[in-house]
Amino acid sequence: DWILHNEEFIREEELNISKEDRGYQFGDGIYEVVRVYEGNLFTAEEHIDRFYESAEKIKIVIPYTKDVFHKMLYDLVEMNDINNGQVYVQITRGHALRQHHFPESTSPVVVAYTKTVERPLELMRNGAKGAFIEDVRWLRCDIKSLNLLGNVMAKQEAHEKGSFEAILHRGEVVTEGSSSNMYGVKDGIIYTHPATNLILNGITRRVILQLSQNLGIEVQEMAFTKAQALEMDEFFMSSTTAEIMPITEIDGNPIGQGIPGELTKNLQQAFEANLKLAVKM
Ligand code: PLP
Repeated sequence: DWILHNEEFIREEELNISKEDRGYQFGDGIYEVVRVYEGNLFTAEEHIDRFYESAEKIKIVIPYTKDVFHKMLYDLVEMNDINNGQVYVQITRGHALRQHHFPESTSPVVVAYTKTVERPLELMRNGAKGAFIEDVRWLRCDIKSLNLLGNVMAKQEAHEKGSFEAILHRGEVVTEGSSSNMYGVKDGIIYTHPATNLILNGITRRVILQLSQNLGIEVQEMAFTKAQALEMDEFFMSSTTAEIMPITEIDGNPIGQGIPGELTKNLQQAFEANLKLAVKM
């Protein structure tokens, strides 16, 4: 497979990253994951916009325009002949003698690669289990940073409990998942944490808000508590790779009927229809 390294397409064996790359040593960089359906990048512009926004928030200047960047990602998918899969792309502040403050001069390092990934259709159909895990991450969760230790630790804890995803909470308030956004449905209204510094404003989340509006479903971007979560009629999560995935139980407690809810299934259908239009499936 080809890899994008700065402006060049190279082979994996040719990739050479410094031992003092700041991404490697400090997690000093940001990333994106873009889904590929039938060879098409889904919501590429939204992901690219967020990539540039995250970079700006940590003062990394991406060395090409959005259009050039978009074309490079598209070319990479085509060169690697990816039909269904994803593109992972990251940019770090580059390499310099190890010191915490930004170096005087450094060049950012971009690496992008692709892989084939199937859609998690069975979990999307049957639902997944969630586990409440304390959200101990920093206060800039709006940045899609390479620093994922808080997320990784939470996911591992959920995994050890036999759950698919960690449902993070700060004190009593549910924020998001370790790599997803979280939603509860009560009396036909969708509740989800507002897009503040405490969550990553998911691209899938934005698609869901738009689809809900089209379907005439009310959405309240309002935080809810763990206790309220357990009282919801339906619960689901969203991400680029999990799409819209029902959560049917939390810490062993069934949510609603303990099966994927009707509103969740309606949203999944709308998502599917939107996908077919967007990528001409
Ligand atoms: N929240 C976190 C912490 C994430 O890492 C992700 C993505 O992986 C999401 C939410 C969902 O974002 P998106 O829908 O853009 O994939």
